[in-house]
Amino acid sequence: MDFGLTKQQEMLRNVVREFAEAELAPRAAELDERGEFPLEQARRTAELGLVGIVTSPEYGGSGMGHLARMIAIEEVSRVYPPLGFFLQVAPMGIYILETAGTEDQKRKYLPALCRAEKFIATAVTEPTGGSDPTAMQSTARADGDGWVLNGRKVFITIGEVADLVVVVARTDDKFNAFLVEKGTPGFEAPRREKHAGLRSIPVSELAFTGCRVPKENLVGQEGRGLAAALAAIAAVGRTGVAGVALGVAQGSYEAALRFAKERRLYGRPVADLQAIQFMLVDMNVGIEAGRLLAYKAAWLLDQGKSPRDAGADIARAKLYTVYVANDVAAKAVEVLGACGTTPEYHVIRRLRDGLELLAAAGTQQVMKVIIGGSIVR
Ligand SMILES: Cc1cc2nc3c(=O)[nH]c(=O)nc-3n(C[C@H](O)[C@H](O)[C@H](O)COP(=O)(O)OP(=O)(O)OC[C@H]3O[C@@H](n4cnc5c(N)ncnc54)[C@H](O)[C@@H]3O)c2cc1C
Repeated sequence: MDFGLTKQQEMLRNVVREFAEAELAPRAAELDERGEFPLEQARRTAELGLVGIVTSPEYGGSGMGHLARMIAIEEVSRVYPPLGFFLQVAPMGIYILETAGTEDQKRKYLPALCRAEKFIATAVTEPTGGSDPTAMQSTARADGDGWVLNGRKVFITIGEVADLVVVVARTDDKFNAFLVEKGTPGFEAPRREKHAGLRSIPVSELAFTGCRVPKENLVGQEGRGLAAALAAIAAVGRTGVAGVALGVAQGSYEAALRFAKERRLYGRPVADLQAIQFMLVDMNVGIEAGRLLAYKAAWLLDQGKSPRDAGADIARAKLYTVYVANDVAAKAVEVLGACGTTPEYHVIRRLRDGLELLAAAGTQQVMKVIIGGSIVR
């Protein structure tokens, strides 16, 4: 495989790293502690072209592509993973609209979404379990010149701050997707879920009770709503999680390496102890391997592979980088001794953030099911 980064991608990495160091690093711990949605920082990522990074310029995006997006998410997450997770989730609804929406929907919503003047959430998961979305119980009934939605969604990222939600619901034995605007009667975000990590990104329950939307709010062809959402979850959600995982791992590794060189025991830095070096080596090799898998998956999408055809590569990237993120963050806590669990060293929050990635955009076991299917097919 012939791949390397373009000049534009290298430049983007430098720009995003500068942004993260200057504007996120000094505030990451405080933002995490406060747990409020980082609106100002989310808007800044849009100014840098990162929210609409895989969206065509025709609709207000920067069109830099999937590998560029992976690099940007990795750099943001190296410093402040919750904002990387925002960049994982916000483009998901944008992607659904761009790939399945009508021309009117694209012109009406995409430019404001790419500028982060408005936010869009994607709601598939229900209390019946996310891994089998065909078991969902939310319904959409055709009624005159519109649709009426009833049901409940859980774990919906940015659900409570979103101006717009793509909701997938069952119509008899088919699944449709709809746009529901904030303020529509019958649509509420009654509860924010309590989470161990990614604390400043709200993940909420959404409720739809006799919620009526006009017929032009159907997204994609009738009966193809779940397929459109699953394609976005693969192409944008899983690759995004891989980018966040790389950032969690890289940030944890750098913190551990810095500490190991500065901490002196027995008259020398602990980095000289082979036991510590071996942990650093495991971290270093895991990150390198994960990065290759993740960049390859994004690159395949940039080469025009469909989310389905690139599905196993995307699953490998998500599976492996998330294992690496959790392993590296846990090892970093160990390298730092007692300092590892204090907030000043910024490794414990990364470990908490890494845990959230295990189930996000599909569990590790579901990734294995996808890869397994591709091997034995
Ligand atoms: C931080 C975060 C953000 C999220 N954001 C969103 C969002 O914005 N929108 C949204 O719709 N959802 C969102 N989710 C939900 C996410 O998509 C689900 O958590 C995920 O699909 C798994 O569903 P579940 O948690 O209900 O686990 P379940 O599906 O109940 O799985 C339970 C267990 O069974 C295992 N399992 C399931 N199927 C198989 C199988 N075939 N073989 C072997 N083992 C299996 C799983 O791996 C898991 O260990 C988010 C989740 C998190 C953690």
